[in-house]
Amino acid sequence: MIPSLAPTALLVEDDVALRHAMIEALAQLHMPILESGTGADALKLAAEHAPTLIILDLGLPDCDGRDVCAEIRRGSDTPILVVSARDSEAEKVHLLDLGADDYIVKPFGNAELVARVQALLRRAARNGPLSQTPFLRSESVTVDIAQRKVTRDGSVVRLTPIEWSLLEALARDPGRTLTHQQLFDRVWNREFGNPQQYLRVYMTHLRRKIEPEPTVPRWIVTEPGVGYRLEPDG
Ligand code: CA
Repeated sequence: MIPSLAPTALLVEDDVALRHAMIEALAQLHMPILESGTGADALKLAAEHAPTLIILDLGLPDCDGRDVCAEIRRGSDTPILVVSARDSEAEKVHLLDLGADDYIVKPFGNAELVARVQALLRRAARNGPLSQTPFLRSESVTVDIAQRKVTRDGSVVRLTPIEWSLLEALARDPGRTLTHQQLFDRVWNREFGNPQQYLRVYMTHLRRKIEPEPTVPRWIVTEPGVGYRLEPDG
């Protein structure tokens, strides 16, 4: 497998007219796009070309796009933008738990598609080999993951181990929504308990320490019914 040097996308969509419309919309990004209309072909192209980004329709003729998503995720960290016809919190949680990075619902506009793709490319670049030790800064807060140090207005913020684990999980992938279950697994590493209840309590503590206005969080954002994400630029 030879990873491409320049960004390349793999677009998996069996509706040919829609696929062409999406390619036209993405032309402004000047990125080579590989095309596929089946899940089997998508897995083959993904393995052969190691694209920078995969845009994956869920309704495919030969298999369930969810299985394709899970299969790709078993072998690589390539960002996956899932295209779904269903708009529900449960569906979104399920897809993020399977390893999708983001989710777009049909029908969508060109601007939304381009914006989602750009956001994933920015994240892929930020999480690339040159930035293994993330350092994040908002207006008043800095997070240095290597040093395990958080400052607010220049003063060190004392976090409990659980608060730190939560912040670290989010800070390692800014802009990405982690589901309640994903956060719970990473921080508590056990299977019992209600993730949403635990998270509500500890997020409240964490926000009091690092958000300028804890009740109107700008940095650690709630995605209702789904999970939390860290907004990179405050
Ligand atoms: Ca389809």
